[in-house]
Amino acid sequence: MNLILFGPPAAGKGTQAKRLVEEKGFIQLSTGDMLRAARASGSELGQRVAKIMDEGGLVSDEIVIALIDEQLTVHAGAAGFIFDGFPRTVGQADALDGLLDSRGEQVNRVIRLVVDDAQLLARVTKRFEEQGRKDDNPETFSKRLEKYYEDTAPLVPIYAERGVLTEVDGMASIEEVAGLIDAALKETA
Ligand code: AMP
Repeated sequence: MNLILFGPPAAGKGTQAKRLVEEKGFIQLSTGDMLRAARASGSELGQRVAKIMDEGGLVSDEIVIALIDEQLTVHAGAAGFIFDGFPRTVGQADALDGLLDSRGEQVNRVIRLVVDDAQLLARVTKRFEEQGRKDDNPETFSKRLEKYYEDTAPLVPIYAERGVLTEVDGMASIEEVAGLIDAALKETA
């Protein structure tokens, strides 16, 4: 099962991914987490991406595609993969198709968590207060949201046309969203 959890920043992708990891043994591939880990380790890669991340920009396709490729190999044979925060551009989506195809696989389902901008801003303001993530400050967040609409939202019609897109009300409670995701996965399996 190759599942993309899709949606703007703070839509709840990470929360739902973590639950699926616990309940179904899927592997969560979050490029945001991978990049934050690279930064925390002080690696050359981490240093290279720090400024872009802090400013709310997108790291190059080349870098995130290489991270995903590596993790697909490390976890070959896993029960399923949840792509969280990836793909974020048409180039990344194309690359993902290629990476999966070369392993005899494909994107099985894309679940889009639909949340309006006011709710996103409210969530991220709370997260900023609680966790202090630099890129959650309101100014940087609006840049991230802008990038989402510009570069990432164009993937919605692409996956819809392929018949793999399910839209879920991301404003519902965490439990309700979880139920809607499980129902979509049951249909996919
Ligand atoms: P996230 O935790 O997914 O919101 O990611 C935090 C930041 O990491 C983003 O604002 C980007 O700067 C960078 N990032 C994460 N995933 C990607 C991706 N797939 N493509 C480009 N940049 C990414």
